[in-house]
Amino acid sequence: MSGPVDTLTQHGQHGRYPAATTVEDFARNLTAVQLRIAAACRRVGRDPAEVRLLPVSKTKPEASLRLAYAAGCRTLGENKVQEAHHKWEAMQDLSDLHWSVIGHLQSNKAKLVARFATEFQALDSLRLAEALDRRLQIEGRSLDVFVQVNTSGETSKYGLAPADVAAFVQALPSYSALRVRGLMTLALFSIDEERVRQCFFLLRTLREQLRQSAPAGISLDELSMGMSGDYEIAIEEGATVVRVGQAIFGARPMPDSYYWPGEISLLRKE
Ligand SMILES: *Cc1c(COP(=O)(O)O)cnc(C)c1O
Repeated sequence: MSGPVDTLTQHGQHGRYPAATTVEDFARNLTAVQLRIAAACRRVGRDPAEVRLLPVSKTKPEASLRLAYAAGCRTLGENKVQEAHHKWEAMQDLSDLHWSVIGHLQSNKAKLVARFATEFQALDSLRLAEALDRRLQIEGRSLDVFVQVNTSGETSKYGLAPADVAAFVQALPSYSALRVRGLMTLALFSIDEERVRQCFFLLRTLREQLRQSAPAGISLDELSMGMSGDYEIAIEEGATVVRVGQAIFGARPMPDSYYWPGEISLLRKE
């Protein structure tokens, strides 16, 4: 992970998102993000109470997560299930801390998610729905889920093609331990704001279409979209959940291409 492109990306992120190392840093960053959320809502006449901020703690050490907790965070997002599971085990003393798994999951790891997560945002196959439901039934638990949609058309991104989501949603009532909440997407990584906005607009439009035909018990109220670089645009386009890591925790040590193999950091908005 070296070379001029990645080096540029790293420096850009570190300048923009200094590391949070105290409870005060976390409190300040959380307040700053909440203010920006409120401002974005005001621009489009939305109530800020409609938007949930999900702090994303991936790659950060347990000590940072504990500071975030002390600053008031009660749900943390992680994109790798094993890392999330380790953190959950290490932080059992914080009994009101909840975990949202936001990254791609292989069916053979459904068991781990079923054990500890309260939310899973990257549902993208019936095979996975089946595996999660089976393990959840065994654990006597249920799970809030979001269907991940690939709105950018990039082959490197996970998620269902928009045209496949309607049929997928029709099949979900068979899995009674999954509480379907809505849709999730990652926008194109681009400096072109209009193209980023287009991804969010597509997700909202899809949700409006699907709502007409959604089976009973399947709620599509939520739209999880927007991260540190683009959450204000996402809110303008209707996001009800924004997943924000670096703007709260500080830059990650490696560029995004490291965490999302196959994706390109060159076009990442700085
Ligand atoms: C890492 C990650 C985020 C947060 O990204 P930041 O740039 O840290 O805000 C959001 N969503 C998913 C799926 C992620 O993996």
